[in-house]
Amino acid sequence: MKPRVAVFDFTCCEGCELQILNCEEEIPQLIEALEIVNWREAMTERSDEYDIAFIDGACSREAEIDRLKTIRERARMVVPIGACACIGGVNCLKNQYPMEQVLKEVYGDAATYYDTIPARPISAVIPVDYFIPGCPIVKDEFVRVVQELLAGRVPYQPNNPVCAECKIAGNVCVFDKGLTCLGPVTRGGCKATCVTAGAVCWGCRGLIDEPNTNAERDILQQAGLSVDDIVSRFSLFNLCQEGAWQ
Ligand code: SF4
Ligand code: SF4
Ligand code: SF4
Repeated sequence: MKPRVAVFDFTCCEGCELQILNCEEEIPQLIEALEIVNWREAMTERSDEYDIAFIDGACSREAEIDRLKTIRERARMVVPIGACACIGGVNCLKNQYPMEQVLKEVYGDAATYYDTIPARPISAVIPVDYFIPGCPIVKDEFVRVVQELLAGRVPYQPNNPVCAECKIAGNVCVFDKGLTCLGPVTRGGCKATCVTAGAVCWGCRGLIDEPNTNAERDILQQAGLSVDDIVSRFSLFNLCQEGAWQ
């Protein structure tokens, strides 16, 4: 029997699921190796019998905690996809404010109809088996991870900083252009795509294991950023990784 796969969305923009749908060339091959049984964004059918659950989005409501626990009980493997699910991502920015204020800001007079809790990554709620980082995820990486999971292997997880791939890409470091960048502490695997495209790394793939954040703060300060700017830079994607939601 083919492994049964489900894709679930929580608090997010669902852009990472869109990236899976964008794997147009690989989808026919994937469908031969697995059966997709539940995916709200892509199909009408729903089944609660699945082996692998991909989770898009962070947990930011009480009801999502129970839903995640149910998914964990049913799935043999749970794999968060994207910054929202893996590290909380931009959702965690709201954790800096009282939840009542957040609700009022978003829903105005209708705030009492809604509930919210500090956002957190999926791994803060249930055990996960692997994760695919990025905002959004990289298509090739998703396909590779699925192939490795189907083969029964633990997928390779890049743990080099983005800088290593930036050098391979032949980019001039943005610090030499008077800009700043989180590449030295950010998990690679994206081929430094933002720098190559003329921007900077904002840290969407999360921090590498044991990042030297003190050294990164120092070089950001030397480049002219204020303490507030540095905190803001780290916070965009990585506020929850710093444990700020606790
Ligand atoms: S990680 Fe980025 S692209 Fe993916 S769901 Fe979250 S906000 Fe959207
Ligand atoms: S531009 Fe950023 S990612 Fe590239 S080498 Fe410089 S600091 Fe590292
Ligand atoms: S360069 Fe940085 S911000 Fe851009 S995709 Fe890679 S990790 Fe994300």
